[in-house]
Amino acid sequence: MAKEKFTFQAEVSKLLDIVARSLYSQKEIFLRELASNASDACDKLRYAALTDPSLNDGNTDFRIILGVDAKAKTLSIADNGIGMGHDELIETLGTIAKSGTEAFLAQANANAEADKKGKSKDKDTVSLIGQFGVGFYSAFMVASQVDVLTRKAGQEEAFLWSSDGKGEFTIEAAKRDTCGTTVTLHLNKEDKEYLDEPRISHIIKAHSDHIGIPIIFKDGEREETLNSASALWTLQKSEIKAEQYTEFYHHVGHAFDEPWLTLHNRVEGVMSYTNLLFIPTMAPFDLFTPERKGHVKLYVNRVFITEDCEGLLPPYLRFLRGIVDSEDLPLNISREMFQHDPRLAKIKTGLIKRVLGELKKKAEKKPEEYAPFWENFGAVLKEGIYEDQTNREKILEVSRFQTTTSETPRSLSDIVTDMKEGQDAIYYITGENLETVRQSPQLEGFRARGVEVLLMTDPVDEFWLPAVGSFEDKPFKSVTRGGADLDNIKEAKGADKDGKDKKKKDKKQAPGIDELIASLKISLGDAVKDVALSERLTDSPVCLVSGEGDMDIQLERMLKQHKQLNQSTPRILEINADHALIVKLAGLAKDGKGSSDELKDAAFLLLDQARLLEGEALSDVAEFARRMSSMMERGLA
Ligand code: ADP
Repeated sequence: MAKEKFTFQAEVSKLLDIVARSLYSQKEIFLRELASNASDACDKLRYAALTDPSLNDGNTDFRIILGVDAKAKTLSIADNGIGMGHDELIETLGTIAKSGTEAFLAQANANAEADKKGKSKDKDTVSLIGQFGVGFYSAFMVASQVDVLTRKAGQEEAFLWSSDGKGEFTIEAAKRDTCGTTVTLHLNKEDKEYLDEPRISHIIKAHSDHIGIPIIFKDGEREETLNSASALWTLQKSEIKAEQYTEFYHHVGHAFDEPWLTLHNRVEGVMSYTNLLFIPTMAPFDLFTPERKGHVKLYVNRVFITEDCEGLLPPYLRFLRGIVDSEDLPLNISREMFQHDPRLAKIKTGLIKRVLGELKKKAEKKPEEYAPFWENFGAVLKEGIYEDQTNREKILEVSRFQTTTSETPRSLSDIVTDMKEGQDAIYYITGENLETVRQSPQLEGFRARGVEVLLMTDPVDEFWLPAVGSFEDKPFKSVTRGGADLDNIKEAKGADKDGKDKKKKDKKQAPGIDELIASLKISLGDAVKDVALSERLTDSPVCLVSGEGDMDIQLERMLKQHKQLNQSTPRILEINADHALIVKLAGLAKDGKGSSDELKDAAFLLLDQARLLEGEALSDVAEFARRMSSMMERGLA
């Protein structure tokens, strides 16, 4: 076979570029990444050999061997794991299949731009890379060339992959006595420290001590095991230091941050298992990709079975990292079968209970610590409210919400406790972001009465709210829906008490309001469902609301964005009878003074204004501009 030449997938080249330029302070983690890969490869072979013992000729003595060649300035990491075939090499070391890559590259790019312009960045590139996890490609932080000699278990031929990380790699036929992989790094001049045994030993101790497979430094005939090679989760909690947990988290989660929460338990019962689970401090990049992949590794009696086992944890807990190890699961069934095994379902139930229980403790006892967790993962957890009916209540208990009356996120039970006299629903408004929803005119009447309104800005809110319907017997009700019943609620203390409420009842309606409503209805025709007087407006002249049975405005917009809907439901245009503009228009309508053209222009301008406030695009921008100019002209005359 002649030497073949390939170009990296564009994303890989970009990634390598970023990697080569940054991470200087944490370069040494390349060794942890490569040792992790080697250990994973051994785990995979151990599992495969269960069903096909010929794959490793019964050899269960897995090991990772480190060696240096001071003259050639190379460091090598060799394993006797599963190895890679020809096509697999191209696939795994030439592309990134990882979800979230696009988001990562986009943010890294934004960082580079910010650097150029001297602007501040949301997050530094180092922690970005950490969050993403660069894996194998981190080798290029210290090496000008990387060679991968590999032979797949069960195959005779071996291959040599080689690259300088500058856009291309080559593959050629090679020889390797046994299956496994040897990664050889041709170290950069400034990275020669990684030829030094004490330095290497220190890094392994610090970052890879708990890997279940021995990591051996080999110098000629001398062999020295550098790590303790015991699976961390099998040790007693009392024997484990916080640093060891962190180190294990970094290994198992391909993470760089500190764990926000560590859950290490041994459960004995119908099913016996150990879980060592972590919740990250920083949100990983793949949280919102359609695959909703899990990242908890399943072991059976210390034999690695699979990562992302569907039946182990629900997708709404996909932010968890770590391992679950059970001796009560069968080893000899296929990975696919596992997902439907009732024994696995039992473990799943136990894990969910444990995780939600711990979250509850944190949420109630340490709200300030809980807040960043909720910020990062709340939107994911909320998927469980409609997907997992069994645990719905528990998830609602640990859910927190931004509201119109509080700086800090609030729990539903607090919100219900603080409801106003006469308030019989939990009010919410949905929208794309906090800034826009806070400014919605629909909130005015609620603000005036001091009624707390939940600000829902996660897309998932559109789904769980209708599914749940109520909390502690209080129905959830959108403020953008008809019939807001505001008159039943007393005015806020701060507001002019015997002012507005009384005024509203006693005050005579401005003359011409009925005529104005009639005129608006005629002018707008099918563009609106109805025109009505508003209870919820205090400052703005108009707003749009949905009819009782109609689709919520925000949901409709979302479905349209995803092309699942192409028609708009006409809305109800509500007018504020106290607003000076409306009063004036009513006067015109009453006297029959306004030419019908003038009132028609006004009608559409009011509707367009309401649409703009909703964040909607105008259907006819040219008409809008024409009406606006004509109104201004008349106003100036
Ligand atoms: P990750 O480990 O997160 O999947 P990496 O970039 O570190 O990402 O590795 C990419 C893939 O290359 C691995 O998933 C694995 O399939 C393959 N690989 C890397 N190192 C080895 C190795 N020593 N033995 C076998 N396969 C390997």
